[in-house]
Amino acid sequence: MEWSPRTSSLTTSAAEPGRNARQHRRWLAAVALASLLCACVADEPAERALTLDGAAMGTVYRVTVPQPLPAAADELLSAVTEQLERVDALMSTYREDSELSALNRHATADAFPVSAETFAVLAEADEVSRATSGAFDITVGPLVDAWGFGPSATAEPPAPGALARLKRITGWQKLTLDESTRTVRKSSPDVRCDLSAIAKGYAVDQIARAIEDLGCRDYMVDVGGEVRVTGLNATGEPWRIGVERPDAAGRVVHRILQVTNTGVATSGDYRNFRMEGGRRLSHVLDPRIGEPVETGVASATVLHSSTMRADAFATALLVLGERESVAVAEREGLAVLLLLRDGHGGIREVTSSRFPAG
Ligand code: ADP
Ligand code: MG
Repeated sequence: MEWSPRTSSLTTSAAEPGRNARQHRRWLAAVALASLLCACVADEPAERALTLDGAAMGTVYRVTVPQPLPAAADELLSAVTEQLERVDALMSTYREDSELSALNRHATADAFPVSAETFAVLAEADEVSRATSGAFDITVGPLVDAWGFGPSATAEPPAPGALARLKRITGWQKLTLDESTRTVRKSSPDVRCDLSAIAKGYAVDQIARAIEDLGCRDYMVDVGGEVRVTGLNATGEPWRIGVERPDAAGRVVHRILQVTNTGVATSGDYRNFRMEGGRRLSHVLDPRIGEPVETGVASATVLHSSTMRADAFATALLVLGERESVAVAEREGLAVLLLLRDGHGGIREVTSSRFPAG
C-alpha cells in the first residue's frame, strides 16, 4: 500500500458539482482504481448529506454524515484529516520518518519503545496472527517488497535462494511485545513490519471516534474500502455497502449489505495483483510459504465491531482458504462472506453462521 500526499474536499450531495469538483472526482476515481477497493460504497439517493473525501494512506477516503450536521463541516473535516495524518505518520512504510520505519531500521535486539497507538495495532496484529496460525503476519514486509508490492519493490519475483533467506526473517513470533514498557523486540535485526493490512481499519475506527466526539451519531467512514457504519443514512435506513464482484475488468456490485453499527472490511486478490508467466500474483502473501496466495478465495468480507480487527481477519482469510476460513470464522464468532471462484468462470458464496441473512 502506498501512503502518499493527500487532498481533501468537502461537498454536500445536494450541491451541483462544479468543473473543479468534477475534475477532482475523476482524479479520486483514478487513485481509487489503482488500489484495492472491493467494499465500495453504494451511492446514496440524492438526499442531503455532507461528504468529506480525499486521498490518504495511498488510497481514498470518504466520510458521509447526514444533515443536519452535529458540528460545523470544517470542524468535521479537520477531525478526519487529523486522524489520517497521525496514523500515516506513525504507521506508514512509505515514509522514512514514520515510527514504523524507525522500528524497521532498528537493528539490535534491544527493546524499541513505541507510541500507545502503534503498540495497540501491533498487539492486535499479534492476536490475529495467533488466531490464524500465522496466516496474518506483519513481518511479511521484506517478502512484500520482494514480490513487487512494497515501498522498495523489485521487478522480478525472488529467486529460490532469496526466498529462503526472506522466509528466515519472516514470522510473527519474531516480534515480542511488552505491554508494561510498551516496547517491541525483534529476534533478528532484519525483521521488517508492514501494517498495510490492518492500519486502514485502525484509521477508520479512530476517525469514527473523533467524529463521535463532535456529536456524530449517524455516519459512514470509508478508508480504501475498509468501512464503518453507525446509525442511519440520510434516508433514515441502515447504510448500504456494496461488495464488489471479484473482477479485475470492472466494478460491478455483487451484493449489497444493508447494515449498521459495525466495521466492514474486504480483502481481495483481483484488484491489486500482477501477472507473471501466466500466474496471478496477489499482493496478499501466505507468510508460511513466502508466496502470493492462490487459495481460490477471491474475496473475504468480515463484519466486526472493530474495523481494525475486521481488516486484519479479511486479509488472513484470503490466506487460509475456504475450509480453514470457515473454521476460524466460527471459532472467533466472525460474520464472514467469502466469494470463491468455482473454476468455470462463476462465483460461489460461502457465509459463516453469524453473517446477516438477506
Ligand atoms: P488492501 O491494503 O489492498 O486493502 P489488505 O488489507 O488485504 O488489502 O492488505 C494487503 C497488504 O498487506 C499487502 O499489500 C501487504 O502489504 C500486506 N500483507 C500481505 N500479505 C499479508 C499477510 N499474510 N499478513 C499481513 N499483511 C499482509
Ligand atoms: Mg486487511
